[in-house]
Amino acid sequence: MTSMHSVKTTTSAPAWTIPFNRPSFLGREQDYILESIAGGQISGDGPFSRKCHEYLENTLSVPKALLTTSCTHALEMAALLLDLQPGDEVIVPSFTFVSTVNAFVLRGAKPVFIDICPDTLNLDHAQLESLITPATRAVVPVHYAGVGCEMDAIMPVCREHDIHVVEDNAHGMFARYRGQYLGTFGTFATQSFHETKNFSCGEGGALLINDPTHVERAEIIREKGTNRSRFFRGQVDKYTWVDVGSSYLPSDLLAAVLYAQFETRDEILRRRRRVWQYYQDNLIDWANKNSIKLPFVPDWCEQPFHMYYLLMPDLQTRQRFITHMKARGILSVYHYLPLHISTMGLEFGGREGQCPVTEQVSDQLVRLPMYNTLTEAEQEQVVSAVLQFRV
Ligand SMILES: *Cc1c(COP(=O)(O)O)cnc(C)c1O
Repeated sequence: MTSMHSVKTTTSAPAWTIPFNRPSFLGREQDYILESIAGGQISGDGPFSRKCHEYLENTLSVPKALLTTSCTHALEMAALLLDLQPGDEVIVPSFTFVSTVNAFVLRGAKPVFIDICPDTLNLDHAQLESLITPATRAVVPVHYAGVGCEMDAIMPVCREHDIHVVEDNAHGMFARYRGQYLGTFGTFATQSFHETKNFSCGEGGALLINDPTHVERAEIIREKGTNRSRFFRGQVDKYTWVDVGSSYLPSDLLAAVLYAQFETRDEILRRRRRVWQYYQDNLIDWANKNSIKLPFVPDWCEQPFHMYYLLMPDLQTRQRFITHMKARGILSVYHYLPLHISTMGLEFGGREGQCPVTEQVSDQLVRLPMYNTLTEAEQEQVVSAVLQFRV
């Protein structure tokens, strides 16, 4: 038998001076966890879940908000609620996290990949109409970095063709497009409260329901296909299996953490704005001189300062940049390998050159450390490392 001592421990994590992300607890998270434990109901839909639901419903003026175990699961719920069938098509950006697509593929739907705009990196609304077929059932706008997609162009096209909009708003909690909160446009919207997002309880999400006709079925699907939610409200005297479903509600312990995060919303957004603006002010000259693109935020988009990214000239420069930062103890990361040319994407007929902007941006993009407790001293260190980089 192999003894534990013979296992080489070469995988210990490097001690980054400045990590890419760091969770922060600026409010009453710990108090509320203790309160939840003392209260004795730590399963789903307890007092803190109800507070989170009310907070989201009141703040965003949405008919219904339901906490879920993740944004991935909220997307799966949306796909179930739309009764997607094999053969149905869903238009999704190729430049996104896998869950945006996977949730619909799980129902047998076929993803139809749309390219992104080179400025906002949001789905290219001008291409939308050309991708619609009689089988199209839904479009999934991902509000990249929490900067709103061009909803004034997307909504009328979807209405005209009787297509549902499911907003993947994982990045955009409390952001707005032309004054209207993201997440309030589509039939459904999904939020993420993963550790890397602006508001977090480690793992978590929410489904926002803007069309009230879906509320009752959403509660059933979320509660294992039972009408248990109606039972708890005293609307039926026993609960039973009435539809398909799964278990999509998070523990109230997580809702306790999340509610404290919502309470510190202004503080969180204020801190993120400062971090974002510091990068912007200090990197703009360097970027212009070196043909590096910085985030673009249209005047009509109120962003939540979710991320700060650079678009390098090409893949080699981007990789060299990451190595350069790493050598200075700073973790910078890239994301979204184009889904249309991933192993799964190819099976759905994806081909190289289909989404050229996605393919290019995927090579060029790099994200700088961005978190609520990033200090100005740390940020100076990041900026000075960036400015030392020779393109
Ligand atoms: C983070 C993220 C998700 C998944 O969120 P989870 O809560 O981890 O399931 C989905 N879509 C986008 C765009 C994301 O960034």
